[in-house]
Amino acid sequence: MDFDTMTALEAAEKIKQRQISTTDLVKQVFDQIEKKEGKVHAYLDLYKKDAFARAKEVQKGIEEGRYRGPLAGIPIAVKDNICVKGKKTTCASKILGNFVPQYNAEVIHRILDAGMILIGKTNMDEFAMGSTTETSAYGPTKNPWNLSHVPGGSSGGSCAAVAAGEAWLALGSDTGGSIRQPSSFCGVTGIKPTYGTVSRYGLVAYASSLDQIGPVGKDTADCAALLEILSGKDEKDGTSLNRRDTGFSEELSDTVMGVKFGVPLEYLSEGLSEPVKKAFMDAIKLLTAHGAIVDFFSMKTTEYVIPAYYIIACAEASSNLERFDGVKYGFRARDYEGLHDMYKKTRTEGFGEEVKRRILLGSFVLSAGYYDAYYLKALRTKALIKKEFDQAFSDYDILLAPAAPYTAPRIGESLKDPLSMYLGDIYTVAVNLCGLPGITVPCALDVKGLPVGIQMIGNCFQEKKILRAASAFEKFRGAFPRPEMGGACL
Ligand code: GLN
Repeated sequence: MDFDTMTALEAAEKIKQRQISTTDLVKQVFDQIEKKEGKVHAYLDLYKKDAFARAKEVQKGIEEGRYRGPLAGIPIAVKDNICVKGKKTTCASKILGNFVPQYNAEVIHRILDAGMILIGKTNMDEFAMGSTTETSAYGPTKNPWNLSHVPGGSSGGSCAAVAAGEAWLALGSDTGGSIRQPSSFCGVTGIKPTYGTVSRYGLVAYASSLDQIGPVGKDTADCAALLEILSGKDEKDGTSLNRRDTGFSEELSDTVMGVKFGVPLEYLSEGLSEPVKKAFMDAIKLLTAHGAIVDFFSMKTTEYVIPAYYIIACAEASSNLERFDGVKYGFRARDYEGLHDMYKKTRTEGFGEEVKRRILLGSFVLSAGYYDAYYLKALRTKALIKKEFDQAFSDYDILLAPAAPYTAPRIGESLKDPLSMYLGDIYTVAVNLCGLPGITVPCALDVKGLPVGIQMIGNCFQEKKILRAASAFEKFRGAFPRPEMGGACL
């Protein structure tokens, strides 16, 4: 059986037809993990024993008609900032190194109710702060297409696991691009839903007004099916929405005839590397060849999205991360004198450089005297950015953008210069500031054989529109190679 080219939906169908069993699938995943994990390091924790036990239970449940959903029996990996009851949830930080939650995140309840099988926790940038998965306290994940390159971040472990065939599907979280950018770097598909679509209950907060959990998978249909499972009102999350339009997998399409796409001209200026520009323009040609209308227009607020995002995200992070003080959770420094010294040493030893930088920046912009000049101004800027997107969506159905200005950088290249790493988030952060849905779909390989993704951005609640266009684009593009087939290192 060729599992490489099979999607999760197809595998689940084969389980229903009794052509394969849930145990076959779990065994196949752990075989892949055994073969590749030593090189890729996508996971921080694996639940091999539990997964085999769960496979048996799910198989029975499917046979007895208790699990009828389209992804029943499918193994899934979970980013390590999502709480799983009784399992370590570290956020790739030393400060949560021994933290074991007493409860499941809402999304975990949902995937278990759907008959899916948890296989482990994936690596990430510490507290989801970063774009390369190198800020993990437990070492970087490698890009399965080329092991000397990063997988992107912060959901780099989830995207690398799916790309390497070490997971059929995965959960990521996206605060400023952390699903869409690593999906682009790893040649997989990832969705950031409209803010409020997926409950954040049990997601360790980075920047609460921006965070959303979303699916990572082999293609649009798999991601749409998983998003459908994840979505829905949750009383435990005050920002969760009661949407009635979450039948995301119902209307996937193979046409873009007459769909109006807009491309912000500013996205094509200096920062964009030649290989990504070429892949992006080729993708546009493919869409227009199939009847799409693609226009270029100016998004004047583009230059402000990075400063606005980093001020707001760091402000919220500095407040959210106050709770890690050595008393309530996880790690506590060994030697200290008195309470204040304990706080100080615990946080000094427990947090990595990037997290500290953001706590400092966030505390600064929130401090009396600077609040108006930075934080308030950033909120006002966010409102202007949103206004410009509203205007764009009155003219276009979908906006097209690269997911990142370049393909996956080499390991070690980005950490030297945090500011230029921040600038790499230029095409993704506005989506979070405005609460919009976005999807990344693989579109090409660069000359080095590294994947490039195209991003489709919809207006709030327009997931179906972007999913339809993304699935049509996949059909025009044809099958995308897998790392092994591309002749890379695995
Ligand atoms: N790279 C961005 C940041 O570091 C986005 C991270 C994310 O979406 N979690 O803030």
